[in-house]
Amino acid sequence: MKIHDSITEEQAQHVRAIVRRCRGPHTTAAARRLAKSMRTQADSEARLAGLDPLADDFDGRLGQLLELEPATQEEAKALAHAQQCVAVRSLEEAVRGAISAEDKFLPTLRGKIRGLMLVDREREASLLDEGCRQGCGFDVNALILAHPLDGRQRVVTCPQCGVEITYTPPEA
Ligand SMILES: [Zn+2]
Repeated sequence: MKIHDSITEEQAQHVRAIVRRCRGPHTTAAARRLAKSMRTQADSEARLAGLDPLADDFDGRLGQLLELEPATQEEAKALAHAQQCVAVRSLEEAVRGAISAEDKFLPTLRGKIRGLMLVDREREASLLDEGCRQGCGFDVNALILAHPLDGRQRVVTCPQCGVEITYTPPEA
């Protein structure tokens, strides 16, 4: 991809100093992978909290643990793992919910990501966003350098996967 005529080699090096790769589009397959890995993570948090994720009374016992006023370090650790388990499970539910509405997968997923950001759950929002992308790897710096460095927000299309990338270039 050709560097825009207005950009000097020094400016180009400045842009390239930060690696920017295209993350690809959101796909159902990627979301399924994420949901599966979250289930594994939630199960492992549960085990660390001393719970058996396959037990019939799992939810009841998890609830009891969350009510606990920890008196020992061990109890405090178990409580922390239980809280983490609940956080991962609720996110997994959000992903599964998005997948089950397959025909409306993308709007549902984007809505959930926006919703999480609105309630200041940035970490979960970015996990959901990243985890549901199929990956691409195209060098986004090459796209940035093909246009003037004018500080104006721009939307470009990744030539490799077709995803739209919004970015604001630095002002030269
Ligand atoms: Zn791409």
